[in-house]
Amino acid sequence: MFKNYIKSLLLLELLKGLRLTGRYFFAKKFTVQYPEERAPMSPRFRGLHAQRRYENGEERCIACKLCEATCPALAITIDVEAREDGSRRTSRYDIDLFKCIFCGFCQESCPVDAIVETRVYEYAFEDPGESIMTKEKLLAVGDKNESQISADIAAQAKYR
Ligand code: SF4
Ligand code: SF4
Repeated sequence: MFKNYIKSLLLLELLKGLRLTGRYFFAKKFTVQYPEERAPMSPRFRGLHAQRRYENGEERCIACKLCEATCPALAITIDVEAREDGSRRTSRYDIDLFKCIFCGFCQESCPVDAIVETRVYEYAFEDPGESIMTKEKLLAVGDKNESQISADIAAQAKYR
């Protein structure tokens, strides 16, 4: 009892706390000043989806539907039609981002590296309908980020 009284009189607990504060006050800071600064990001980061094209502008997707079958969240909807030359292409390719769990299975299952998950993570929706990534929107994301996407795929290939 008397010991506790002396302790509180000398503010020992407070001094102990201040010692800890002082130690961290002069230590190296790890705070990232977002958005001016960015934390390092893995080439395997699973952000917003994209559909890719070949260099000649032709879309890669061959409408095999493997990604649709693999998706555990049933987030992908594909309709297929045959072109005049007999090749298969999607007439509809939707990903519902409200269902998607960003597992990356669609990317893993694609035989032609058509559907990928990019490093893009800064996006928002104001209307529920905007959560559907249509084929046009996916191709636009792919066109915009192709150089980063191909660099990331090359980086991942080193570890396979
Ligand atoms: S990331 Fe996973 S949940 Fe999302 S669309 Fe691809 S397979 Fe489906
Ligand atoms: S994105 Fe890939 S896996 Fe999905 S339908 Fe197209 S080619 Fe097949």
